[in-house]
Amino acid sequence: MEKSSRDSDPRFGTIEDNIKRIREDMASACAKCGRDVNEVSLMAVTKTVEPKYINHAIACGIDLIGENRVQEFLSKKDELNLDGVSAHLIGTLQLNKVRKIVGQVDMIQSVNSLKLAQEIDRISERLGIVTNTLIELNIGEEASKTGMSVSELDELLCRMDSLGNIKVCGLMTIPPICAQKSEILKFFHNMNKLFIDIKAKKYDNITMSILSMGMSSDYCEAISEGSTLIRPGRAIFGARS
Ligand SMILES: *Cc1c(COP(=O)(O)O)cnc(C)c1O
Repeated sequence: MEKSSRDSDPRFGTIEDNIKRIREDMASACAKCGRDVNEVSLMAVTKTVEPKYINHAIACGIDLIGENRVQEFLSKKDELNLDGVSAHLIGTLQLNKVRKIVGQVDMIQSVNSLKLAQEIDRISERLGIVTNTLIELNIGEEASKTGMSVSELDELLCRMDSLGNIKVCGLMTIPPICAQKSEILKFFHNMNKLFIDIKAKKYDNITMSILSMGMSSDYCEAISEGSTLIRPGRAIFGARS
């Protein structure tokens, strides 16, 4: 990062301070519930953020970024310093965009139907790769949200063994907006229970190693309920325009 641009744009310093603060929050949230902070990954959600700020976050130690939209990610990718950095797709993926993103990201966190899993598998097979994925659950059962319902999950898990070019590494969720912390804790708790149950069942082709939950306003609660990957955006980069 050039000094002149840092001095002229206070946002660089803010990003650095924010990352430091979140790491401290992560350490104290883990200490409170007796977890090892190394079990929890910090993803920086970079939707709408310009590459120069993303690169600054990377210079400050961020090694995992999340983008929502295929087109936005692909248009920014060449400007990003992604050496040693993983990039995940976390936004809703349309079937007709699958061929554009498979092979371009390290993981697709937003698998929300069997059809989508099958299409990712098909394109991955054509490219000769295995694509890492998470299953996105609509834990609040909200009509307005994407993600699978818990009742659909079992069928998907049973059919994964026929999809040899896709690997399920865990679960992801965006819980409902809750007025009370106790409500959100309940959703996170239910996610963790499912995560543990599925892990115990040992399905073929499925390893439950990542539980992706917790955004800017609730990452400490998510950590207290077992999250292994938190996804703050605004808490790092500031409000989105
Ligand atoms: C936007 C987004 C985030 C980050 O949200 P913030 O409120 O900015 O922390 C995390 N996960 C997903 C899936 C998102 O779309």
